[in-house]
Amino acid sequence: MSSSSPIAATPSPLEAYGLAELAHWERAGVSLAVLGHPVAHSVSPPMHNAALAEMQAQRPDLAGWSYFKFDVEPERLKPALRWMHERGFRGVNLTVPHKVQVLPLLDEIDDEARAMGAVNTLLARPEGGWRGHNTDGYGLAQTLRRDLNVELKGAAVVLLGAGGAARGAAIQCLRDGCAALWIGNRSLDKLDDFLVQLAPLDPDERVHGFDLARPPVDEWPADVVVVNATSLGLKPGDPAPFDVGMFGSETRVLDMIYRREGATPLVAAARARGLQAADGLGMLVWQGVRSLEIWTGATPPAQTMMDAACRALGLPPRHA
Ligand code: NDP
Repeated sequence: MSSSSPIAATPSPLEAYGLAELAHWERAGVSLAVLGHPVAHSVSPPMHNAALAEMQAQRPDLAGWSYFKFDVEPERLKPALRWMHERGFRGVNLTVPHKVQVLPLLDEIDDEARAMGAVNTLLARPEGGWRGHNTDGYGLAQTLRRDLNVELKGAAVVLLGAGGAARGAAIQCLRDGCAALWIGNRSLDKLDDFLVQLAPLDPDERVHGFDLARPPVDEWPADVVVVNATSLGLKPGDPAPFDVGMFGSETRVLDMIYRREGATPLVAAARARGLQAADGLGMLVWQGVRSLEIWTGATPPAQTMMDAACRALGLPPRHA
């Protein structure tokens, strides 16, 4: 490492680095990273590093692999990715605001990510450049199955939101064979754009839009699965995005949001009504499991990743 390097001799997975440190990045081992803006709050480094520490016992070739976080402004994403490839980074996770704007910077995009129009996982190609994947849909399907006993195939799903997370969720529901998908959003112009984008993927017309303020409750079966992909509930004091009083007793509720404070307003309200409900921590962990599988070719220890995420957030332990 050069004497002018602004980073310590051994980079720390606890630090949030930037392009200045990346310019001087020198590590013997393989580096992985999450890129976001902001990124300081990310629990991905403890989650992935806990898994890597365990995997290294069976896979000596993973010795020296470590996962870091980088705060990268949107306009610096292109040089950041070029430098990371040059400095031997094998994999990258992308979070807000990079998941969509990265698309034109990639050399390859897998079919699922292309359909979702968003990428959260990059794999360095040996011949140069990056291949993009989207593991958020996998994370959603896994947490629905494990936390709420829901199989998307044949399910009736009510999806709240029309942003990036909702788009990934809608594609996953359609690809996995949901029976019907109602999508509600506050801004109706964004909802209309979203429905137009989904139309080519929905030849059998399973998708129906609605105004979040006027949910067509009467059309929904008793065992509907509600997925919140709005950001309402993220900030302290936010209300639940929806009145759970309108749901039948078999409704299951997944809120993509998770919080250090514990249950989100939607999860708390659903549980108070006696409904099965889960927050977005399982989705976060399972998207990470799939990313690490893509980078290593091995099966990561999901429970270890969940334990590390709970510890980092100060939440009680729970099953992955
Ligand atoms: P976007 O900014 O792309 O979309 C935000 C959505 O929330 C829009 O549909 C927006 O509606 C809606 N919204 C925002 N404020 C309100 C409000 N006051 N009332 C009603 N609707 C509102 O965000 P993303 O799609 O990227 O993320 C959505 C959420 O999902 C975030 O909270 C994020 O943390 C979470 N997420 C969780 C993941 C996990 O692994 N657990 C993975 C990815 C995302 P409008 O169009 O009207 O503005």
